[in-house]
Amino acid sequence: MVGSSHTFEQNMVAADTHLARFKQSPLLHMINGEHVGAVSGEVFANNSPIDGAALGDVAAGDEADVDLAATAAASAFGEWSQTPGKRRKQILHDVADLIEERAHQIAVTECIDTGQTMRFMGAAALRGAANFRFFADQAPNAANGQSLPDAHHINYTTRSALGPVGVITPWNTPFMLSTWKIAPALAAGCTVVHKPAEWSPLTAALLSEIALEAGLPPGVLNTVHGLGETAGKSLTEHPAISAVAFVGESITGSRIQAQSAATLKRLHFELGGKNPVIVFDDANLERALDAAIFMIYSLNGERCTSSSRLLVQASIYDDFTARMAQMIKSIPVGHPLDPASVVGPLVHPLHSEKVRSYVELAAVEGATVNVGTNWVDAPAGGNFVAPTLFTNATNDMKVAQEEIFGPVLTAIPFDDEADAITIANDVDYGLAGYLWTGDVGRAHRVARALEAGMIWVNSQNVRHLPTPFGGTKRSGIGRDGGDWSLDFFSETKNISVALDTHNIPKLGG
Ligand code: NAD
Repeated sequence: MVGSSHTFEQNMVAADTHLARFKQSPLLHMINGEHVGAVSGEVFANNSPIDGAALGDVAAGDEADVDLAATAAASAFGEWSQTPGKRRKQILHDVADLIEERAHQIAVTECIDTGQTMRFMGAAALRGAANFRFFADQAPNAANGQSLPDAHHINYTTRSALGPVGVITPWNTPFMLSTWKIAPALAAGCTVVHKPAEWSPLTAALLSEIALEAGLPPGVLNTVHGLGETAGKSLTEHPAISAVAFVGESITGSRIQAQSAATLKRLHFELGGKNPVIVFDDANLERALDAAIFMIYSLNGERCTSSSRLLVQASIYDDFTARMAQMIKSIPVGHPLDPASVVGPLVHPLHSEKVRSYVELAAVEGATVNVGTNWVDAPAGGNFVAPTLFTNATNDMKVAQEEIFGPVLTAIPFDDEADAITIANDVDYGLAGYLWTGDVGRAHRVARALEAGMIWVNSQNVRHLPTPFGGTKRSGIGRDGGDWSLDFFSETKNISVALDTHNIPKLGG
């Protein structure tokens, strides 16, 4: 496993080596296969979540840069969309090979840029390669359609690449999430302009360099850095861009919907979550406890599918939450490159302040605040937040309704099945739901009743790439995974051929 086979010291040496280039000169866009600075010459600062130190400046793209990138993507579209699927498959596998070769570099860079720990980022880098392989294998079938005959016509559908598309990604697991969008777009024959999050720009640069080295033609994958309100907004408004695949906050999704209305873009949104994990008293409580802890305190709790609302049957609530409060004290918080660390610093001071404000709010709202153990040697200027559990909470509290996106869990008691379903659904979000029970009938009943795009029964989030991923309500529009991704990046055409047996009305002499 990447990273866990390296010591803390080896990871630190690798970080010095791999991050030096970003400190020496500004991180540039990748447009048409070239590293280029912002047209305006402007840059923005990128700082370490560990101690606030400068990680280097980044080109601050705006409308002019997005226009260059969209024009490059539009020019490259004709050839790439006509490249045989088998050839696209080969190139995308070559990208995956290079990601695997550089997985340690990617993981170290991601840890330093985001504060996520090596324990999870090693696997996330490899998952990026797996995403490329999965969609590479689908490239030869991307144009496949359906046969839908009726009595007098043969109908068949074909698919073709939609056009140049925009991909806008967040900072929580930026490398893995960007491959999850970019790989299917490329497999379908689309060209891409990627706008990574301004708080975590570094690994997007590695991806565009790897893609070029693997043989992806210039202009097929372009990366424009910059702020959401400038570069991101311009991308959603650009007339050459046919669709936007967006992962981020629900409020940003609403803005993008409005921004892209004038150019009638196809949109795919993966947004926020406030996902319930429901624990019935007949569940395997050991496994439920470990899974609930894993789903909120891994990835710093900065995870869209985190189980951030713990609903526990009243009969076992006190015991279950007391064990949890005890267990979070031993979750190691530390330097992201230390293989022993589970929780690292949050991505940005503004974000850690937001998470801490919810810890203060929980007490004001009347919940009991159980705080785990923070890193005693945490550097000043780091965005560290200790694992935290709110008990005796009610579902009307803000800490039960709003996405906190940190290592913070809100635990609410429920009486029976109906009560659990009511509480679980009484929220604006609907991304994922987790439920734990030993009763098969109840498992199916509750899974069916939960308002969410994905339900795991007696399991944490275990992703199987062919299955649909996405949310309902304020958690998203559309599904990823399997053929759902390819369908989003494709235009479908129906062709109807008569068998010359049907009646044609005669309207004249
Ligand atoms: P965010 O919405 O603030 O930013 C995401 C991206 O959108 C960034 O690249 C940002 O620059 C860009 N952006 C911001 N304003 C924009 C605008 N007006 N027009 C175009 N682009 C704009 O989200 P974040 O804080 O980076 O990420 C955390 C959020 O992402 C959480 O809500 C989390 O739940 C969500 N998320 C969802 C999934 C999922 O699959 N559902 C996965 C990961 C993260």
